[in-house]
This record gives sequence, C-alpha cells and structure tokens, in this order.
Amino acid sequence: MKLTVLGFWGGYPYQEEGTSGYLLESNGYSLLMDCGSATLIELEKKIDPLKLDAVVLSHYHYDHIADVGVLQYYRQLHSSKEAKPILPIYGNEEDPRHFEELNLAGISKGYGYAEETILHLGPFTLTFLPTIHPVPCYAIRIHDEVSGNDLCFTGDSGYLPELADFAHGAKVFLADTYLFNGHERHVAHLTAGEAGELAAKAAVEQLILTHLPQEGDLEVLKYQAQETAGKLPVLLARRGLEIEI
Ligand SMILES: [Zn+2]
Ligand SMILES: [Zn+2]
Repeated sequence: MKLTVLGFWGGYPYQEEGTSGYLLESNGYSLLMDCGSATLIELEKKIDPLKLDAVVLSHYHYDHIADVGVLQYYRQLHSSKEAKPILPIYGNEEDPRHFEELNLAGISKGYGYAEETILHLGPFTLTFLPTIHPVPCYAIRIHDEVSGNDLCFTGDSGYLPELADFAHGAKVFLADTYLFNGHERHVAHLTAGEAGELAAKAAVEQLILTHLPQEGDLEVLKYQAQETAGKLPVLLARRGLEIEI
C-alpha cells in the first residue's frame, strides 16, 4: 500500500498545512484515514475525491474530522456527473451526535466500529484498539493483503503499553507525537520518547512521528524519539510524504 500524508499537525492547521489526514492506496482502492483541516484540498491533488472508496476516523476531535462536511459537499455537488456509490464513513458509535453527522442522504453513510471489529475494505483489513484520550478514540492497524504489510496508526493517545502488542511487527508505526519529553503519561498524547519506546517494543520497521506540535524544534522531537527507538529509522511526517508499505 502507499501511504500519503495529507496533513500532520496536531490540534489546528498551521502555516498553510493541515491536520490529521492520510491516504492509503492499494490495488486501485483508496481509503482515507482521518479527515482533518485541509485534507480535502490535499486529497484533490492526489486523486479525484469522487474516487475515494471509504473513510475511517480515529475519533471526533475536529483536527481529525474538520473536512468531513466539505468532503460530503464535494460529492453532493458533483452528484450529477455520474452515479456513484454512497461513501462509507467508519467511526465509533460512542459519540452519537458526531456519528449521526457521518450520514448525508444519498452521499455518505456512517458505519460503526468497536474494539472487536474486523473490517474488510478492498485489500485492507482493519483492526482497532481503544486509546487513552479524553474522548473515545481508536488506534487502527491496517493490513494490506497485496503487499502483506501492516501500518499501525495510534490515533491520538497517551502512553498505552498495549500499543506495542497492537503494532507488533508492523512495517510502519505512525504515532501521535504531540509532546516533547518531560510530559510523560499525559492524558491525551505521547511524548517523543514514549513513541520511540513503543516503536522499539513493537519491533516495527519504521517510526513516523505525526500529529506534530506547532511550537518547539521538530528536530529535537525527532532526536528524543530516536533515543528510545534505537536503530529503527525515525521520520517526521510532512505534507505529501509518500511511503510504500
Ligand atoms: Zn488530535
Ligand atoms: Zn484528539
């Protein structure tokens, strides 16, 4: 599968770049994971948004869902072009108000997932793990049957030892690293050192730091993650970054 980073900032867009949004493509199937600020404008550069096959959301904080509404409008306003299937949007049902908003008649439909769910979407198989966060949020592991490889995305999470098992053996660990060291065991996000530690315990091949902070030196963030990650390569997410997994 090909991972394309559409947005990577935590909390809010910054300097013309957006928040959480990742395009995963394999065998002609396109899955959008999270849909934060500027996701749609970046998605337009990569594929026709009408060709998107499905969306999966880690949780309903706005830096992860801000563009869901405009993605629905995009498809609604192009509905005369050609008949197309209703876009499935997968999210948790623990927040009924936001879950309901995934539905737009004739355009998109919300489907619930939970911890025990195994989702088969095109070539992808998705599994879920609840994270440590102020609202219900899930880490998502995606297996691609074409390459045989896995990506594990933490969603937003404070330090959760179970993430090491959940991500074990994945080729890429895409980790919420909103915090510099010194804020360990936070209620919402990982520190750089914690992200590196989990990646090393999970024996992944590569750690990508994402959900990045706007304040502070990102090279220091990367260094702090590398200290605990050991030899495995650590990358900072950036707009347009493409990784073959
Ligand atoms: Zn977030
Ligand atoms: Zn969040």
